[in-house]
Amino acid sequence: QDTTGAALAVQDVTVRFAGLTALDSVSFTVEPGSVHAVIGPNGAGKSTCFNVLSGVYRAASGHVRLGDTELTGLPPHAIADLGVARTFQNLALPPHATVADSLLLGRHRLTRSGFLATGLRLPSAVREERRHRERVREIAEFIGLAGQLGRPAGSLPYGQQKLVELGRALCMEPQVLLLDEPIAGMTADERRRTAAVVADVRDSLGISIVMVEHDMGVVMRLADAVTVLDFGRRIAGGTPAEVQNDPAVVQAYLGA
Ligand code: ADP
Ligand code: MG
Repeated sequence: QDTTGAALAVQDVTVRFAGLTALDSVSFTVEPGSVHAVIGPNGAGKSTCFNVLSGVYRAASGHVRLGDTELTGLPPHAIADLGVARTFQNLALPPHATVADSLLLGRHRLTRSGFLATGLRLPSAVREERRHRERVREIAEFIGLAGQLGRPAGSLPYGQQKLVELGRALCMEPQVLLLDEPIAGMTADERRRTAAVVADVRDSLGISIVMVEHDMGVVMRLADAVTVLDFGRRIAGGTPAEVQNDPAVVQAYLGA
């Protein structure tokens, strides 16, 4: 496997839970500025894969690299600090925070002023906070929610709350964004809008995206490359058109 120039490289990653191999020597690479979809039937190991990439689970063997940087075995906060941001399958926003404050949470890792400097409102800390708020406004515009900055995030329609989560991850200025089922549970309208934002994250911001998604229509339209998992194994990979016509994939989805 040639990983030269890859934004993210997953090499021979194995994850075991008591008596169960959830990922069995899985490898794939994510090209810079691309959308890489990870698909597969229920229980295939997609979420486990995300949890390894973000440091929530530790691989029994294998490697994960961000460019030349080894991520293997690092805790979640260290991986986030190195530029891998994620969203969750279920909403993980503080319920009463405004959209602005929810986005501001994503700036935390970029904040240099210490707790004391911020508390004392030293000029450097005040300037820094102003810069963060400007960036929050830009990201809010990017996700189409600039008009909602002052509203409690929890009062927005579900699809917009998911966009706030995406925005919070973007506020971390990641190199790689991990999206766990970004359009699940959305209305047709929200799905279209979110898919357009994800494409824009790749095309305008140049961020590499790894996406777990069930909606095959969206995967086919949005993904540049696809990895297919089944029972913890990588059973196929390639362009959407290639995997769509792969007999092993058809078999896995139709079930045995
Ligand atoms: P997917 O997201 O593709 O539906 P998962 O990665 O959630 O699949 O699960 C893959 C397999 O690993 C399943 O058999 C699941 O039951 C098992 N699994 C996932 N997480 C855990 C865990 N924390 N402890 C034990 N088994 C787990
Ligand atoms: Mg899952």
